Amino acid sequence: MNFTKNYDVIVAGAGMAGIAAALEAARSGLRTALVEKTVFPGGLATSGLVYFYLPICDGYGRQVNFGIAEELLHLSYQCGPGEVPANWRQSTREKPLGRYRVDFSPAAFILALDQLLTEANVDIWYDTLICQTIVETGCAAGIEVENKSGRGSLRASVLIDATGDGDVAFRAGCSFDEETNKTTLWAMQASLERAREAVERSEGTRLMSFHQIGSEGEEIRSDIKAKTYPWKGTDGRSVSHFLLKGRSVLREHYEKMRAKGYRRQDLFPVTLPAMAQFRTTRAIRGRFTLQAGMAGQRFEDSIALAADWRKRGSVWEIPYGCLIPSVPGLVTAGRCLSSVGDAWEVTRSIPIAAHTGQVAGIAARLAIARKTTPDMLPVADVQAELRRKQMPYHLADLTQEDVK
Ligand SMILES: Cc1cc2nc3c(=O)[nH]c(=O)nc-3n(C[C@H](O)[C@H](O)[C@H](O)COP(=O)(O)OP(=O)(O)OC[C@H]3O[C@@H](n4cnc5c(N)ncnc54)[C@H](O)[C@@H]3O)c2cc1C
Repeated sequence: MNFTKNYDVIVAGAGMAGIAAALEAARSGLRTALVEKTVFPGGLATSGLVYFYLPICDGYGRQVNFGIAEELLHLSYQCGPGEVPANWRQSTREKPLGRYRVDFSPAAFILALDQLLTEANVDIWYDTLICQTIVETGCAAGIEVENKSGRGSLRASVLIDATGDGDVAFRAGCSFDEETNKTTLWAMQASLERAREAVERSEGTRLMSFHQIGSEGEEIRSDIKAKTYPWKGTDGRSVSHFLLKGRSVLREHYEKMRAKGYRRQDLFPVTLPAMAQFRTTRAIRGRFTLQAGMAGQRFEDSIALAADWRKRGSVWEIPYGCLIPSVPGLVTAGRCLSSVGDAWEVTRSIPIAAHTGQVAGIAARLAIARKTTPDMLPVADVQAELRRKQMPYHLADLTQEDVK
């Protein structure tokens, strides 16, 4: 090994889940490493150009996510454009006009996140790929990483897998559920039309313009016809082919626009995503798996609430077991927590990644304090901490005012 270092907590992946986990751990005084293979914080939300912070309310005026998930929502527009609907600016208890969500500039969010993480004393390792999980006597004990310094090992009492793909748990030998993906590419573009609108309305936000393949904007006909989507984000070759396909569809789009009379200098791509935009790759098979039909169900070991971004009024409880893979010493959060099908559609959103990330950070801290591992931690201890932080985890705990 070219280098080794010891921490209390290692957070693998600096997406929204990893950032929240690292903030929670570092703010409580733990020596915390945040290891990220790209050069940016934010994961899909920034490198992936996914610029919609989905709602942290149920659509009927009840806020469901608090803590770091809410803090990051507000941070997302601190350095650039974006704003929450007026009814959510002053009070969380007013009548709903719009859902508590925000659109933001990924680049502006990166600048703000760097500052927040640095101020919290998180030891950030950018441009560092996690290659292996170190498992000793059946327990996850560290990771092997590769960066410009060569190969190194980082060790910690608790590892938090926030890689979105469950890379750390996968390399520790945990089992998974997987899904395939449709052809997707969200790209930022410069558009003279939008620039004119921005000037006319005196609204700089209009300058942020996107072309989206694999969304309502441009669905790929072969994907729609296919019974299953073609792309697997867990197969190394498939990842390259997915990226090449998306970019070839984008090239065709601009060729079509030229044919329609749009000049090269008036409409063109400016930023492409710096990571593959897979919605679903690996979800760990945890102690409990959230599934379709469980919306609104009460779980005694619930640690989070998740509002369905597609449907007002539909809120899910997320059990602690969804964060617990089969190998001790590990806890997961975000896109790779244990949920499948329709439940995955809900749990993989930005606010839920942030919320479960914070819970993973809490679990890491409590496990270290009690000299145990997250899987052995009494969930009542985690819930007590959530109550202390005023983060509700049962539907019944939400205030009933304003419910229509
Ligand atoms: C096309 C698309 C549209 C979406 N639309 C929305 C939307 O509108 N609103 C919304 O809220 N959500 C949306 N989502 C979902 C949401 O963006 C993500 O699910 C969420 O951001 C996931 O956060 P995460 O932290 O769990 O994982 P990720 O964002 O995937 O972050 C994981 C991080 O880990 C790093 N990493 C992975 N493997 C390694 C490794 N081996 N070594 C080191 N680092 C590693 C990655 O580089 C990344 O930074 C969308 C997703 C996609 C793909």
